[in-house]
Parts: sequence; structure tokens; C-alpha cells
Amino acid sequence: MTDCIFCKIVQGEIPSRKAFEDDLVYAFHDIHPLRPTHLLVIPKRHIASLAEVGAEDEPVLGRMLSVAPRLAKEHGSPNGFRSIINTGQVGGQEVAHLHLHILGDTKPVGPMLERD
Ligand code: AMP
Ligand code: ZN
Repeated sequence: MTDCIFCKIVQGEIPSRKAFEDDLVYAFHDIHPLRPTHLLVIPKRHIASLAEVGAEDEPVLGRMLSVAPRLAKEHGSPNGFRSIINTGQVGGQEVAHLHLHILGDTKPVGPMLERD
């Protein structure tokens, strides 16, 4: 995807603070961290959102989740973390390349959803 900022990050065309990389996924620090630990884990291959995945994406989806605990531990959230995937306009997704947020701290991060 030529116009996708996260594809450009994977390709090194836009700088990022890399946390991890393997054959399927790339992880980096969010540019506007909401917590002391705020990482994004993305598939190297462009997938627009969780709404676009199919059975062929199961290996990369599994990898995104399975690297998360180690990344959280290594980057300042050793006792748990929150993992979030925003999907589409309704889900508040701003960057149209699938990404898993990993948010944490040494302190509890608080309730997730506001109720009205
Ligand atoms: P979302 O609202 O789930 O689409 O989240 C997009 C996230 O990407 C936000 O938390 C942004 O701060 C983050 N972001 C946008 N551009 C960059 C970038 N160039 N490097 C790192 N994080 C970014
Ligand atoms: Zn992309």
C-alpha cells in the first residue's frame, strides 16, 4: 500500500522507535503515548483493519497476540497490560493498517470504557 504510513514504517521510509520485528509482525512505540508503555504491533503485510481479515491471516493474528506479553514486560508493564484493536470509523480507527495497541504501566491503567 503506497500511501499507508504504517507500511512506510515497516519499510523504513518513515522513522519509528522499533521494539520488535520478525517475519510476520513489526512493533514500535506509539508517537503519542497514552500511557508510559504504549506500543503498536502491526502485520508487516498491509491489512486495513480487523474487519478485513480472513482465515489466511490467522498466523499473523496469532503472532500479534503472542508477542504482546513479552513486549509489555520488556517495555515497562511487567504485571499486565491492556490490548486494544480499534476497527473502522465506529471503533475509532485512525490509521487504516491493522494495529494492536499495548498500553500499560507499573500502576493499574484504570477502567477502559466510559458508560453513559
Ligand atoms: P488508532 O486510533 O487505533 O487508529 O490509533 C492510531 C495510533 O497510531 C495513534 O495512537 C497514533 O498516535 C499512532 N501513530 C500515528 N502515526 C504514527 C507514527 N508515525 N508513529 C507511531 N505512531 C503513530
Ligand atoms: Zn499499510
